[in-house]
Amino acid sequence: MVAVTTPLVYAIPLRTRFRGITVREGVLLKGAAGWGEFCPFADYADAECVPWLASAMEAADQGWPEPVRDRVEVNTTVPVVAPDRAHELVAASGCRTAKVKVADPGSSLVDDCERVAAVRDALGPGGAVRVDANGAWDVDTAVAAIGELDRAAGGLEYVEQPCPSIDELARVRRKVDVRVAADESIRRAEDPLRVAVAGAADVAVLKAAPLGGVRRALRVAEACGLPCVVSSAVETSVGLAAELALAAALPSLDFACGLGTMSLLTTDVTTHSLSSMDGHLPVPGRAPEPDLAPAVQAGDETRDRWLARLDRVRAIAERI
Ligand SMILES: [Mg+2]
Repeated sequence: MVAVTTPLVYAIPLRTRFRGITVREGVLLKGAAGWGEFCPFADYADAECVPWLASAMEAADQGWPEPVRDRVEVNTTVPVVAPDRAHELVAASGCRTAKVKVADPGSSLVDDCERVAAVRDALGPGGAVRVDANGAWDVDTAVAAIGELDRAAGGLEYVEQPCPSIDELARVRRKVDVRVAADESIRRAEDPLRVAVAGAADVAVLKAAPLGGVRRALRVAEACGLPCVVSSAVETSVGLAAELALAAALPSLDFACGLGTMSLLTTDVTTHSLSSMDGHLPVPGRAPEPDLAPAVQAGDETRDRWLARLDRVRAIAERI
């Protein structure tokens, strides 16, 4: 692993709170092939960050496999907001697919159904509505809620991670007609392939960073044999380029990807930001140059904390 320049540590405020954080932080690394981003969330233990480092180093040292498409359709994400606001967000997005966050502690099933109905209205009958419960339900609650939400949506494309465990996903999947997508179950699993083996999902949500890079995520996609959706980890455009490289290299891509996430950040590390246009993102050959990084440089405390984390994760990676 070679990084030819000093790593750049950034801190960028989010537009709205996400995963309990208000500022996105991470490290940009440069190698012979370009720039990579190391930005595991704060709740990841050092050992869990090893794949994130591998993904950053793949971008920096090797670059990515050849793409098979030059643009990727993306979905818009609807947070827990009032129905009229949800309608507005979807109409303004230019996307034909919307992912609606549901089962949040701050909203009831009735609220979720109203939000989902407003999203369907904004998209029209040709659009696709998916929901993401982030593992919040137990099996019975999931089965009941999915029925209601499916009716409110006039048909759901899929429900993402209705329950926390793989066994629960498999039980829900046997009881509902709506497709089940596995996200957290793949991202943080010891063995992502167990999801397919257990019959727990119809769709796999993949992210290059937590899976150890584009090549490793492509192997997971091939081995699990499920249709895949690529989703970002809310990286800056440097890390997002790796997620796009994954979406661009998958042999087939049947669903819109969760990569229109630059809008969640108040700014970017580059003037060549990967922002979606008309519901699509172009596939860049490599990560954009972080020409704005000095403007979003983290303060000393944040910088020291990230460089120490990077050193600890590197030390673990070298022992493996
Ligand atoms: Mg998800």
